[in-house]
Amino acid sequence: MQKHMKNLKLSLIMGFEIREMNKPTKVFKITHYNFSDVICECAQIIQKGGTVAIPTETVYGLAANALDPAAVDSIFYAKGRPADNPLIVHVSSLGQLEQLVLDIPSKALSLIETFWPGPLTIILKRADIVPDITTGGLDTVAVRMPANQVAQELIRVSGRPLAAPSANISGRPSPTTASHVIHDLDGKIDAVIDAGTATIGVESTVIDLSREKPAILRPGYISAKNIEKIIGEVEIGYSDHITEVEGVVRSPGMKYTHYSPNAIVLLVEGTHDIVLNKIYEMYNDFTCRGARVGLLVTNNDFLPPTNDIFYLGNKDKPEEVAKNLFKGLRFLDEVGVTIILADGSFSNEGVGAAVMNRLRKASEMVIRL
Ligand code: AMP
Ligand code: MG
Repeated sequence: MQKHMKNLKLSLIMGFEIREMNKPTKVFKITHYNFSDVICECAQIIQKGGTVAIPTETVYGLAANALDPAAVDSIFYAKGRPADNPLIVHVSSLGQLEQLVLDIPSKALSLIETFWPGPLTIILKRADIVPDITTGGLDTVAVRMPANQVAQELIRVSGRPLAAPSANISGRPSPTTASHVIHDLDGKIDAVIDAGTATIGVESTVIDLSREKPAILRPGYISAKNIEKIIGEVEIGYSDHITEVEGVVRSPGMKYTHYSPNAIVLLVEGTHDIVLNKIYEMYNDFTCRGARVGLLVTNNDFLPPTNDIFYLGNKDKPEEVAKNLFKGLRFLDEVGVTIILADGSFSNEGVGAAVMNRLRKASEMVIRL
């Protein structure tokens, strides 16, 4: 109580709100045997306006009732997420979707038929029922139906659409395991459901269908090509914000931090062999100057002998790389390196586009060869 009064006084003096941030975060390891008990307990937390981190097929999400402004506010507060960055609302049925949007255009219906449940988020005109805080004040809402059974059941049993951004501190690499969530948000959220590692590992593809011309706002597991097969031409409405200065490229990691570990990430782009040679050379240069250097690379032989290394998988299997990417960034942070040299020789096709997008956004600088 005394602490509460102190916080209140401090808030008045400082002009911003200070909240108690030491809730006991319950960890539920979900199995076949306790499945319905865990879902029931977590549904009750959601119904009371609480926050539950949940597994989805993309990454772990921090879920709360999307229609309860106070509950959604707890998500923004726990993550430290800027208020103008809207949340994706997760549904488990088409009936639930209909309540959230003004209408469902035919292109949206075709995409829903093909890709839902799954890692595709669709932006549509929002209905009044969706509070401003959920959409960052926009007149549109982002919606998705997750394929993950736990996520689906929690939505169904709680009877609420769930706002669920990635369950990390804003700006940090997204979480692909429950322990990543605990690392970032322990004491700030009510519960986390541990269902093992997320199968895809990068966030959903986001497509805007609220305007005349469909536009992809974020690359993800579902490629532009596969979307175009269903609804025809789509614009690429995102950019990796690459501006080149004499072969050295500054990425938006400078302006907006996103997916960023504490270490400085330097991304080396080009054909595979040339990239590896450059990484070898940079590794030697930086370690010679006393830096502790980590390597984020794919499986191969030609690398400096170091334990500060994380193998993303086979370079020709972007699905494997996507699944391991955030884990790798977090791992190298844990190890304590100050610089991460990242292999950026992935193809920009399919999920490779999502991998390159996340790597560019996580990096301080891109060296293009
Ligand atoms: P996250 O939930 O952290 O994976 O991020 C959700 C992404 O969807 C962010 O890039 C948001 O900016 C984007 N988003 C959510 N709602 C909207 C919307 N109504 N219009 C445009 N982008 C949105
Ligand atoms: Mg996120």
